[in-house]
Amino acid sequence: MIEEEAEPEPRENAKIIGISGGIGSGKSTVSKFIEEAGFPVYYSDIRAKTIVNDDAELRERIKKLLGENAYDENGFYNRRYIGEIIFKDEQLRLQLNALIHPAVKVNFIKWVSEQKSDFVFKETALLFELKLNESCYKSILVTADDNCRLKRVMDRDQKTYREVEAIMSQQMPEKDKIKFADFVIYNNQTLEDLEVETRRVLEEIIAL
Ligand code: ATP
Repeated sequence: MIEEEAEPEPRENAKIIGISGGIGSGKSTVSKFIEEAGFPVYYSDIRAKTIVNDDAELRERIKKLLGENAYDENGFYNRRYIGEIIFKDEQLRLQLNALIHPAVKVNFIKWVSEQKSDFVFKETALLFELKLNESCYKSILVTADDNCRLKRVMDRDQKTYREVEAIMSQQMPEKDKIKFADFVIYNNQTLEDLEVETRRVLEEIIAL
């Protein structure tokens, strides 16, 4: 009789590697390369967009903070409306983040428990700002010169130079993030170069 191989247990002690970078740095592209290399990646910002709609308790808290208009007539998180009010009010932005981040954290912990890989990756824009790197095994910063990032985001999002520059100026300066990161991937060359560099960093992390 052929015995079926038992399903491996989910890893509770998986090593978490944070991936971050400013707008247009290439962190999503690096994350895709990491997935293609066979590792699971949790996309925090994409997950957060689902969680604000799916988590009933969080919905109520957001409505309490921002009012009923925070959700549109179809019951969906009103990204445009909220974006406008928090852009003008830093305090409100922080309060909203303080509601969303714990919910994403709970979702992430559950996701990790379902993974079978020894190494799991977490892509998140605010890794260093929120000091989330401190609870990671290692952190990777993807960075590129401002001009490169500006041009790539203008091409990708059909945004003006000024619009992208305004977003960049609100983010933590790259030189500060570099100080906190365990690994830095410079993305000023081609996509092929980026893939090679990503694989090199991956090998280094796995060999640690
Ligand atoms: P955001 O924070 O704005 O979501 P990101 O850091 O995730 O950005 P990506 O979406 O990976 O950045 O990259 C930004 C854009 O630049 C994408 O359109 C991507 O295809 C392109 N890009 C990234 N790296 C390179 C490169 N080395 N050469 C050419 N285009 C690139």
